[in-house]
Amino acid sequence: MTETLQITEIPVPGYERVIRGVDPASGLHAIIAVHDTTLGPALGGLRMWPYKSEEDARFDVLRLSKGMTYKSAVAHTGLGGGKAVIIGDPETAKSEALYLAMGRLVDSLDGKYITAEDVNTSLADCAIVRRATKYVSGLAREDGGSGNPSPYTAYGVYLGIRAALGHVHGDDSCKGRTVAIQGVGAVGSALARRLVDDGAKVFAADRNHARLEKLAAETGLSPIDDDEIMTVDCDVFAPCALGAVLNDDTIPQLKASIVAGAANNVLLEPRHGNSLRERKILYAPDYVINAGGIINVSVEFHEGGYDEQVALQKIERIPVALKQLWTIAHEENIPTSEAADRLAERILADGRAAKA
Ligand code: NAD
Repeated sequence: MTETLQITEIPVPGYERVIRGVDPASGLHAIIAVHDTTLGPALGGLRMWPYKSEEDARFDVLRLSKGMTYKSAVAHTGLGGGKAVIIGDPETAKSEALYLAMGRLVDSLDGKYITAEDVNTSLADCAIVRRATKYVSGLAREDGGSGNPSPYTAYGVYLGIRAALGHVHGDDSCKGRTVAIQGVGAVGSALARRLVDDGAKVFAADRNHARLEKLAAETGLSPIDDDEIMTVDCDVFAPCALGAVLNDDTIPQLKASIVAGAANNVLLEPRHGNSLRERKILYAPDYVINAGGIINVSVEFHEGGYDEQVALQKIERIPVALKQLWTIAHEENIPTSEAADRLAERILADGRAAKA
């Protein structure tokens, strides 16, 4: 086969490697960003999105790869941060040739970047990528991977909620506490089951009403309307659907004293971390509390391969990280979201010092 994949470097200050791959034969147009490998190879998902321009794709991949560095640092996964994006319509542009070309692009980084499933890419797509490179993680258990990350993310969020209850009330029990979950998909539904089992009163909303009603029938949770989930009287608001839900309009309406959920990028802007702080709402930063999935994947790279017990033990350290950053926030008088970034930067600085 004639190789048509053209790979070019895009120099970006503060990033170790950023490469563009264009393959006219398959239609691949992709960017991989390796933000930082101080703590290990850069792991992050492969996203497919119909970006309007390469500039938009580049903005997204840079932002997301840096986020992965911070997330993995605080979670002590032994991995760095990276991300990959394919510019294209996931409805029409997917093909075997495209994912094989993507695999060759990933392989060109010799393991500096490890890819995984992400928005608009499936395990089946990643299995094709795997035919062209061994640097693919998060495959199905039957294919030697760590499988579906969602139950592990839910477990971490559940432990984080308990830690937050302990921090605010001096008692981490869920019994008699109320939690409002926005979105009961893969993570939210598993979280709801754990909370109900633990004696919490759970309110939940989901725009997929059939899914919500089915879960309510199975667990006894109380379904409520989408537009009431953020204003309901409760102890904990757990966003498990969309990003950017905490903003100037919604924060003043929150009745919860804790925000702790799985959704990524829940603050519309960084300053909203301070808006929560001003209202004395304890925020468990998204990328710290939702790290259970990446922790589970990271165990694939342990000696001897994936081991669920190791994954669970590492996820059980999420409350430790949360308590650490809540202490930093208190001592330095800053929002917990900023404290999370400081904690990540300290861990990275220690990693760099250890390597020097
Ligand atoms: P999912 O797609 O399985 O579930 C999302 C649910 O939210 C769906 O049931 C959907 O109907 C519902 N929803 C969407 N918009 C809504 C709205 N406006 N109001 C109420 N419900 C709405 O996704 P998931 O895997 O459960 O992930 C949930 C969130 O957690 C996402 O933001 C995801 O990025 C983040 N996250 C997931 C994982 C993981 O392991 N799956 C890991 C880290 C972070």
